[in-house]
Amino acid sequence: MKGLMQDFPLTIQHIMWRAEKLFREKEIVSKLPSGLHRYTYAEFAERARRLAAALIDSGVKPGDRVATFAWNHYRHHELYFAVPCIGAVLHTLNIRLFPEQLIYIANHAEDRFVFFDDSLVSVLDPISAEFTTVERFIKMGEGDSKTESVDYEEFIRSYDPIDQWPAVDENAAAGMCYTSGTTGNPKGVVYSHRSTVLHSFGVNTGNANGLKEDDVTLAIVPMFHAMAWGQPYSATMAGCTQVYPGPFLDPASLLDLMQSQRVTVSAGVPTIWIGVLDELSKNGYDLSSVRLLTAGGAAVPRSMIESFDSNGLSLVQGWGMTETSPVCALGHLKSSLQAEDDETKFRVKAKTGFLIPGVELRIVDDKGKELPWDGKSFGEIQVRGPWIASDYYNDPRSADSFMDGWLRTGDVATVDELGYLQIVDRTKDLVKSGGEWISSVELEKEIMGHPAVLEAAVIGIPHAKWTERPLACVVLREKMEASSDEIIAFLEDKVAKWWLPDDVVFIAEVPKTSVGKFDKKVLREKFDGHKLPTDV
Ligand code: ADP
Repeated sequence: MKGLMQDFPLTIQHIMWRAEKLFREKEIVSKLPSGLHRYTYAEFAERARRLAAALIDSGVKPGDRVATFAWNHYRHHELYFAVPCIGAVLHTLNIRLFPEQLIYIANHAEDRFVFFDDSLVSVLDPISAEFTTVERFIKMGEGDSKTESVDYEEFIRSYDPIDQWPAVDENAAAGMCYTSGTTGNPKGVVYSHRSTVLHSFGVNTGNANGLKEDDVTLAIVPMFHAMAWGQPYSATMAGCTQVYPGPFLDPASLLDLMQSQRVTVSAGVPTIWIGVLDELSKNGYDLSSVRLLTAGGAAVPRSMIESFDSNGLSLVQGWGMTETSPVCALGHLKSSLQAEDDETKFRVKAKTGFLIPGVELRIVDDKGKELPWDGKSFGEIQVRGPWIASDYYNDPRSADSFMDGWLRTGDVATVDELGYLQIVDRTKDLVKSGGEWISSVELEKEIMGHPAVLEAAVIGIPHAKWTERPLACVVLREKMEASSDEIIAFLEDKVAKWWLPDDVVFIAEVPKTSVGKFDKKVLREKFDGHKLPTDV
């Protein structure tokens, strides 16, 4: 027997419909070099409809890729909606990638239009001529560019708002984002309308971000990375007031915005939150409006969760990847744990979290055997669900990443009886010592708990006897001191003896990837040939 419900397409047009019908009075606030810009959802929708009319009139057809090269602000938000709502595909170019990678991506995706920020011309101008499929560049902002372009406001000015959105299939492509690609060229992930809408529902459930109409969101995660962790869509669906920081991602600017706009929910990578905590410890801010901060994209040290807690702020860890839209799990404390002591609660909160509705996972060993959820056995996480990628765009490497309807994540984890996931490491970052694995992530988290340590990254160094041994690369806080021996002694009661780093080196800064994660590839190159004191 068939269900007798409507086959209503899940498209971004529905999110737009809500914005226009239910939340016309709500505001979108953007911090720009020219000052604070604010307008209502009604104005946003009117401009997005004019942009849609301009795109169609300029020849953009369903399925065409329209790229953006921009910070987080209201015009980027207009593109997030206008492009997919006419059936075209929003391709967010990651402005922090190397020039060769950007050229590869724009050409691989066959972008036809590029919308770029005037503040990014120093990156774009030298390479724009090599975007071989691009027909038109549209500049956002009044600054000059060497790339021949039309001005965004000019582009939409003469158009009336499009009346009716064209019919769009829910399985049609809506957005595209390339993974940063730690090895080889980046790989293209293609989100559909359906996956985007379902992901927004998932993100808005109570054990995820639980966004409501009265929330004020601050989207720190760049709109050029993993669709800003879904915030532009989920916040618009919920009708939140939305705040965009533009290019101002320094801790003081972010805290100013949080304070002045009475932000309630925000998300960012741990690196951002490390800076924010540091600034908070130096200068006072009124963050009484904040109800939830989330951190993901890299392991969150327990000490960071505790520091936020001592500032009266709840920082919840999340897990996901570009291929998973990206949100899969969040580390809220279950009710069955609320009565536990602080030690237990922080131990659980330092785990990676449990799945949000819509996503399923399994952990498997290197022979593909499924492992129990006992909190001890660790293996690769594989995930499936309606917002998990089933393939990469035109990429022969797909075969390695997808099997039997599951995505192989390359992340190694345990899952406990309560369903809490604990990322142990990325397969390629594990330190392989004497046939056993040492979790670099675990060591980093513990080292970053030392009061003098600002950041720490651990890499495996080749070792004659043990294959590899851990080297800790440590950045000390300003005006603080700690010796290599002190750091190792600090770890002694926290990790197994054989996990202790064989050496600690002090560096000025941990190199970061385009999205602010520790770039261990650079560290491995830097310490290639490093002689460990324990090696013979
Ligand atoms: P990239 O592969 O370009 O870094 P993503 O931004 O998609 O792309 O990163 C996804 C990866 O980030 C995950 O596969 C995982 O290794 C890591 N990650 C995400 N969240 C966490 C977390 N809470 N703890 C540890 N690692 C995480």
